[in-house]
Amino acid sequence: MRAERVAAPVTTSNEFTDALAGASDTRAIVAGLGVLDRTGAVFLDVFGALEAHLVADENTWAVAGEEVVASLREAGVPVSEPLVLPGSPSVYASYENVEMVRDHLSRRGGGCAVVIGSGTLNDLVKLASGELGRPYLVVATAASMDGYAAYGASITKAGFKITQYCPAPTAVIADHRVMAQAPRRLTATGVGDLIEKIPAGADWLIADALEIEPIERSVWDLVQAPLRASLADPDRIAVGDESAIASLADGLLMSGLAMQAHRSSRPASGAGHQFSHLWEMEGLGRAWEPPLSHGKKVGLGTIALCALYEVVLRRDLATLDVDAAVRDWPAWAEVERRIRAADLPSDITAAALEQSHAKFVSPARLRSRLERLREVWPALSRQLRDQLVPASEVRATLETVGAVTHPEQIALTLAQLRSTYARAQMIRSRYTVLDLLLEAGLLEECVAELFAPDGYWGSSSVPAAAPLLT
Ligand SMILES: [Zn+2]
Repeated sequence: MRAERVAAPVTTSNEFTDALAGASDTRAIVAGLGVLDRTGAVFLDVFGALEAHLVADENTWAVAGEEVVASLREAGVPVSEPLVLPGSPSVYASYENVEMVRDHLSRRGGGCAVVIGSGTLNDLVKLASGELGRPYLVVATAASMDGYAAYGASITKAGFKITQYCPAPTAVIADHRVMAQAPRRLTATGVGDLIEKIPAGADWLIADALEIEPIERSVWDLVQAPLRASLADPDRIAVGDESAIASLADGLLMSGLAMQAHRSSRPASGAGHQFSHLWEMEGLGRAWEPPLSHGKKVGLGTIALCALYEVVLRRDLATLDVDAAVRDWPAWAEVERRIRAADLPSDITAAALEQSHAKFVSPARLRSRLERLREVWPALSRQLRDQLVPASEVRATLETVGAVTHPEQIALTLAQLRSTYARAQMIRSRYTVLDLLLEAGLLEECVAELFAPDGYWGSSSVPAAAPLLT
């Protein structure tokens, strides 16, 4: 398979060649201005002489449908009657729609899907194609999330949002001209999804330093190297400047490829994402029209985490009282009691218990971990300072692009945000700064500092301008 990928340079933009070498599913990415006309050549290159089954919605079809069809036809690719869904996204991410797309594809016999769309549409076709065991191609229409080149799809099944495993697209066409014309709220969502990679990187630095989950340098670089440039110019992102959108899109695609290479979302998802996942599970904004997007919640989670890191970095953990932390460390029965009392949605309590149990440590393990923390803190805290940016800077970036920066903008009270710090720790076994603080016996006091009258959240006001929810 590796040889095949290397043999297909004509269909891959240079900046992605190295990243594709490590990707498990994606073989070709063409990104640039006005590249829709290369869709046919890429399809032919990765799938050969198969039929193309187009899936779009009314909006994405209007933006790119004709050009994509023309390109496929010109390359000699047979094209079946396209499936064009209504333009309202709220109905999309349900499993019934996966079945509908899957039935549409299987009725047409062989061939591969070509989806023209962002977030939800891509997820529907990704899962439908995955269930049929067929590869597919995505023509990305907005820089709205890192899922273009990632495996897995977020789908609502029986009213419950889940991420289901399925392979990433075999090929991605990312036309920056099309992406730059996408609705601003979609780009704002992409910024929110991408900016979390900053505190997520800090979380990984902690897990690495404590010898819990080592950093894989090549994968780290895929996400972290382009990250600052991708987020450098929110003013130009906000007005849909093509080169700023190109840079944002590159960062999002690289994150997807990093997750493929690492076979986990660790490179691109930390505690800020866990905030969003918890709110997603609780159905926050699900019934809105359009539904509250993933990236809007993740952006708010990023501010929450960067603010927490500021409080943490004011402490000298090299002098942590390990004896006191070990003495106060609860038994598993007490942890279980706390999780059951945490008011998590009833259907995720069992999963939360499992995830929390997977990372629960004995007092002896805790002692050696905290002793290591004391030792590595001088170097680790320097690394964290280099990695992180102030919460106020994240807020300014998100405000500029029209994303969410205060919980009350999305009908979440400060009290609910406060409780999310402890509850988000419970739902995932992934080790983050929330675990470090819990184990060090500092989580409660650090969070209390944030909500004190002079703390980050205690002193923050709701921004005057509303975020771009529509
Ligand atoms: Zn995400």
